[in-house]
Amino acid sequence: MIIVMAGHATPEQIADVEKRIAEWGYGVHPIHGTERTVIGAVGVPEADKARYMESLESLSYVEQVIAIIKPYKFASRELHPDGSVVDVKGVKVGGNQIALMAGPCTVESYDQTMESAVACKAAGATILRGGAFKPSTSVYSFQGLGLEGLKILKAVADSQDMRVITEVMDPRNVDMVCEYADILQIGTRNMQNYDLLREVGRVKTPVMIKRGMWAKIEEWLQAAEYVLAGGNPNVMLCERGIRTFETYTRNTLDLSAVPAVKELSHLPVVIDPSQGTGRRSLVEAMCRAAVAVGADGLLIEVHPHPDRALKDGAQSLTTGDFGPMMDRLRPIAQSIGRSI
Ligand code: PEP
Ligand code: MN
Repeated sequence: MIIVMAGHATPEQIADVEKRIAEWGYGVHPIHGTERTVIGAVGVPEADKARYMESLESLSYVEQVIAIIKPYKFASRELHPDGSVVDVKGVKVGGNQIALMAGPCTVESYDQTMESAVACKAAGATILRGGAFKPSTSVYSFQGLGLEGLKILKAVADSQDMRVITEVMDPRNVDMVCEYADILQIGTRNMQNYDLLREVGRVKTPVMIKRGMWAKIEEWLQAAEYVLAGGNPNVMLCERGIRTFETYTRNTLDLSAVPAVKELSHLPVVIDPSQGTGRRSLVEAMCRAAVAVGADGLLIEVHPHPDRALKDGAQSLTTGDFGPMMDRLRPIAQSIGRSI
């Protein structure tokens, strides 16, 4: 870290800061300028850094403390400069092939899930999405079928030779959801649920962390760090739109997050244009852009009868529209040397 001393700091105060950081075990590298002194401090364990920074910042004669190392290590690009690939029982997320995850927002019934899965599979999807535990802003809206929904998802996915991605909301349900899911989805509302992140770090089932709708990229990567540091190396990220002042779209889909995350991290990045826009009419354009910008996967809501969907019908593609849309997307992937 770099400690910028206040302009009014006395030699005694500068010596005090140097003494503190030396006692913590840092190498001390002061630069005495004409206007002020800057102290470089190097070489203590990552875990202690935040505490030391806070304590220095509280001193009246310290103007600013700047971290020189990113607050995440396992998620950083330096660890895997070529990017990492998550293996989901043979389906790869992060390789040359763009992974297609599709299905209904919510598992409503066996027939609805099956109808959606058959169409998604035919369009090239290898991973079936569907919520069994649904986070809802309103306690009065449908909360999902729970265990029954997990069973439907797995039965349908197995019949189509697809993998399952579904959300886990409660740390107490992680082991149960692992029995049915091939990817554990951490929803936007739970991105900073650290007990849940620790719990999914304990298992080896791949985890997809959706960006908190309020979260900065750094906070998102710090959430991933929880899972990685916990011992689960199979982590991918999903940009699903953030809150801005715009209301025409449900969220503002931050596509710049894809190349930004790729500069900072090795983790695969998936784009969810369904939650990202909230409008069926915008999904295809955002898919095209996501592929062009380097996304490693797409997570798309597809429903046999969006007008009768219990959740997110307005943003769900119809089973009939999905295949032709994917056909229009493939040439874009090919043009950048990838396939879907
Ligand atoms: C979903 O995928 O249906 C969902 C609820 O996602 P998010 O957590 O991004 O809102
Ligand atoms: Mn949804």
